[in-house]
Amino acid sequence: HIPVLTIDGPSGAGKGTIAREVVLAKGWHFLDSGALYRLTGLHCQRCGVDTQDADLAAELAANLPVEFVVGAEGERVLLAGDDVTAEIRTETTGALASQVAALQPVREALLQRQRDFRQPPGLVADGRDMGTVVFPDADFKVFLTASAEERAERRYKQLKEQGADVSLAVLTEEIAERDRRDASRSVSPLVPAADAQVIDTTGIGVGAVFERVMAVLAE
Ligand code: C5P
Repeated sequence: HIPVLTIDGPSGAGKGTIAREVVLAKGWHFLDSGALYRLTGLHCQRCGVDTQDADLAAELAANLPVEFVVGAEGERVLLAGDDVTAEIRTETTGALASQVAALQPVREALLQRQRDFRQPPGLVADGRDMGTVVFPDADFKVFLTASAEERAERRYKQLKEQGADVSLAVLTEEIAERDRRDASRSVSPLVPAADAQVIDTTGIGVGAVFERVMAVLAE
């Protein structure tokens, strides 16, 4: 049996930061499922495929020409040989991701690929439907939330650190729209799994959230 910890929640709730810390602490594998939707959205745009075209988008999702390479500047993501490491993190790509993520055929096309990340000694899976759809039998499930303002601010800081030119007001609006779409879509909407521990991280530092997640793992 290979243990899985699922970390779901809206954008900017701190899922990625916490997931990476748990990965370091436990030596488990890491699934950044959002990156797969971001890559699919970007690939559609680059191939001139409408993000509403479910069948074509699913075909691109099923055959993503993606490579993860470790170079001098850390891990790089290549899409059809092109370095898209920075571009997949922009909010423009986030919006494309959220559009293709609402298409059931796209979700199906990415399902097995995500499940294949479950390898010994364990997996930390970060996303929106990790505990509900992809790993419903996961041993440990958490759902991280935070106030909309705080999530927008965290994402703002993150993008600024990456050198992006963003405005907090615009970003707040964009993230709110993406969350609305993710929560209201008919397929795999963003909801906590019935057996997930919901942790509101508003006003709580990374260290304290990490402790709480590690406590869930020790249960
Ligand atoms: O987590 P991240 O911000 O990278 O996700 C980008 C978008 O991908 C989300 O807004 C959501 O629409 C979609 N997504 C999803 N299911 C996941 C992970 C991400 O629908 N498991």
